[in-house]
Amino acid sequence: MMLSPVTDPNRSFDVVVIGGGPAGATAATLLAKAGHRVGLFERQSFPRFHVGESLVPAVNLALEKIGVLERMDEIGFTQKHGVQFISPKGPSRPFYFSEVRDERMHYTWQVLRSDFDRMMLDHAAECGVHVETDASVVEVCSEGDAVTGARVRRLDESEDVVSARIVLDASGQQGVVARERSKQQLIPGLENTAVYAHYQGVKLDTGIDAGSTLIYRLDAKSWIWFIPLMGGVSIGLVTSAREILHFGQNRDEILQSAIDQCPALLERMANATVIGEVRVARDFSYRATVDGGAGWAVIGDALGFIDPVYSTGLLLSVRSAEVAALEVACALASDQQHPDMRGFSAEWQVAFDRFLPLVRAFYTDDFRFGELSKHESHRQGLVDLLTGIVDTDEAIGVVAKIQQMFDGEAASKN
Ligand SMILES: Cc1cc2nc3c(=O)[nH]c(=O)nc-3n(C[C@H](O)[C@H](O)[C@H](O)COP(=O)(O)OP(=O)(O)OC[C@H]3O[C@@H](n4cnc5c(N)ncnc54)[C@H](O)[C@@H]3O)c2cc1C
Repeated sequence: MMLSPVTDPNRSFDVVVIGGGPAGATAATLLAKAGHRVGLFERQSFPRFHVGESLVPAVNLALEKIGVLERMDEIGFTQKHGVQFISPKGPSRPFYFSEVRDERMHYTWQVLRSDFDRMMLDHAAECGVHVETDASVVEVCSEGDAVTGARVRRLDESEDVVSARIVLDASGQQGVVARERSKQQLIPGLENTAVYAHYQGVKLDTGIDAGSTLIYRLDAKSWIWFIPLMGGVSIGLVTSAREILHFGQNRDEILQSAIDQCPALLERMANATVIGEVRVARDFSYRATVDGGAGWAVIGDALGFIDPVYSTGLLLSVRSAEVAALEVACALASDQQHPDMRGFSAEWQVAFDRFLPLVRAFYTDDFRFGELSKHESHRQGLVDLLTGIVDTDEAIGVVAKIQQMFDGEAASKN
């Protein structure tokens, strides 16, 4: 069936956003607030389940900018004041976000993504974005090298082509545009798999620790996340793709056996039961080597994701959306019909590169937060990074220190 671009002005936008997760909703909201005509197409109906429930406080700044910050406590998401790492040798000193200077980041939230993502998408619509759910982008339209729009298919099989000066790919790991054009590369050494579920009846800490993320390290390759949510706790094993079958033959067995190997966690789970299904995610650490081109850019998970150990996914997603929204707004002021967006994500790449050594350090045999924290400024750098702040002298200093440790190790092996 041949489809021609729709001439109805309602089907022609300044910007078309593919995907209504946090990255798509953030970019669409900011662009609509700046006065642009934005169409957002999301293939699922909301609310829908999504992994990725623990925010870092730097996300608060984006939530404030788009205008949803007050809603977080109104909805009643669990407040998260800190994070603690627990190894077989014992727990680290907790890291509290109140240790950072900026009071706006002294706490954040653990979110049920179904509720959070719906709130973000509803807000985008309230800000003037044309939002369609159950509307899948099945083809990216182009003329020469330039992306010119997208073909959208709805549940009832009806289709049309929406045109745009710029298409933003915010389709997450699906990477509708990214897979064709961005040369996504897996990050070597982080070929991990996650097996996770929600539980009820789990014993929590009290006071401000009740909502903290706990990271139980089993060994250098495997760890378990513990994220308290409204009405339950999200628990997930992350381990290398090679190790996974050492835990069991199927997903239920794998998750249970990991919990069984962690006495400090098992003790909290005497009365716990699984809510819903045990799920799996694979190959989630990668990065696009090309971030955009004529009439297109990739944001959020489509641009890259590092590993869930420090809960930086949503931060990087909304950060890329903010940067893209700024660059797109400038580009739309030019007289190019489909402006070239290549290189828009330079600032995001810096943030990614600051988190990456800390992630790699976590997966080394002799890594200890306690050791690194002995130096006061390194402890501050770690707290800054765990909060999502990458540009203080202390954050830059601790990243350099970790890098030196790796370089020293490599030199001693040669
Ligand atoms: C195991 C694991 C644990 C994680 N834990 C955390 C955590 O604790 N904290 C954290 O911050 N992050 C975490 N993350 C990362 C987090 O889930 C992502 O970074 C975040 O969801 C990315 O947001 P996004 O908007 O880019 O993509 P998504 O949230 O994935 O949204 C993309 C949307 O695009 C839609 N879409 C896909 N294809 C199409 C199409 N063809 N047409 C239309 N729509 C389409 C999808 O339906 C989806 O709704 C975790 C990730 C993994 C894998």
